[in-house]
Amino acid sequence: MKFGGTSVEDATAIDRVASIVKARLSEHPFVVVSAMAKVTDQLLAMAAAAGRGEREQALDICRSLRERHYTTAGELLGTGLHTDLHSELGAEFDSLDELLRGIAAVGELTPRTSDYVVSFGERLSSMIATPAFLARDIPATLIDARQLIITDTQHSRAVPQVDEINDRLDRIRPLIEKGRVPIMGGFIGATREGVPTTIGRGGSDFSAALVGAGLNAERIEIWTDVDGMKTTDPRICADARRIKVISFEEAAELAYFGAKVLHPATVLPAVEKNIPVLVLNSRNPDNQGTRILSRTPRSRSLFKAIAAKNRITIIEIVAARMLMAHGFLAKVFEIFARHRCAVDVVSTSEVSISLTVDSNEAIPQIAADLEPLAFVKYSGRKAIVCMVGENIRETAGVAAQVFDAIRDINVRMISQGASEINLTFVIDEADVPEAVRRLHARFFAEVDPEVFD
Ligand code: ASP
Ligand code: MG
Repeated sequence: MKFGGTSVEDATAIDRVASIVKARLSEHPFVVVSAMAKVTDQLLAMAAAAGRGEREQALDICRSLRERHYTTAGELLGTGLHTDLHSELGAEFDSLDELLRGIAAVGELTPRTSDYVVSFGERLSSMIATPAFLARDIPATLIDARQLIITDTQHSRAVPQVDEINDRLDRIRPLIEKGRVPIMGGFIGATREGVPTTIGRGGSDFSAALVGAGLNAERIEIWTDVDGMKTTDPRICADARRIKVISFEEAAELAYFGAKVLHPATVLPAVEKNIPVLVLNSRNPDNQGTRILSRTPRSRSLFKAIAAKNRITIIEIVAARMLMAHGFLAKVFEIFARHRCAVDVVSTSEVSISLTVDSNEAIPQIAADLEPLAFVKYSGRKAIVCMVGENIRETAGVAAQVFDAIRDINVRMISQGASEINLTFVIDEADVPEAVRRLHARFFAEVDPEVFD
């Protein structure tokens, strides 16, 4: 059971989490918690401030963080009673202050030190949750992620060493069998030498998947603050439905579109072992959420979801010399790679390439580098719309149905087939709400009740 930042954001939230865990005790849960909401951002901000030599600013942010954790602990456990926790938290914050002073004195923030600062977030939240659970009759045992999630040394996106982790999980298994409930901070780990590392933003899901896969869990529950995944953005379409079950591949296609619920890549270790991943709402625990499976049963609906991503730029590259040449695409993409610019949708004709990027800063520079090769034009304020569903693989006339529903909207690029489970096209940002509403009405008015709520 993994609880994200908003699920542990304050005493009320942690109290709710305790009730949720308590209801599952007979199933032997292992609990992973994120840092309290926004804490990772604040730790990064204070580390950056210290790195610029702005000592007081760094210590200021740290002070407010200290207050927040003290308050939360106090509200959960009552003051006086748990002076132990208070002094433990105090010691952590003292060493964090110390660390920030050190960084500020040197005026340089290394990736290694940044990870060390950031690791406080999950350590603190798990330190508070453990006695709070104990006080609520959950036999919790705090697990130090640095002793379990062993990684390589690539700070800020360290790679977990699965065999080593599984060995260590084997040592925890007897504890779980005896009825103890391990609680561990997500997102952080350590090298074999014990140097703290982090495994990428949003990494607590990844931690949960590593643990769940290593323990061969029956399921992994990702507890967040929404009722699972929806058929489309409910801010655009008030009648968006909850997706009850979705395949890993489909969920992965949607991830790019800011379906912020979770990044499926992070739960891959679980999915590879056929362990279902459930996305659930800690504010509404009775809701069934969304179940992500490696394979889903056949559904009667063509699509699972419609996603849109704004702030896209189309880059058109026209080169007559591309005609019958080889190696041209390689040259073009090499330029994007050099500028660390990710390309999303691509379509090519004999003498031109259109592609989309979602970051704008590098575009002028990229255009300049492309200049000797080709004529370049770019147009911003575009959006990618992506319709996802495994059934489109075997259905004829899908494109006709989709583009008929939006026949008066100008479509600038189309791509289908790469993954066989999505139909993607690019339109003006301004057309997105209308297009999404029409497509949703067309494809989700009547749906398979097994798949949608
Ligand atoms: N606290 C980390 C972050 O904000 C990890 C997580 O929440 O999953 O990125
Ligand atoms: Mg998260």
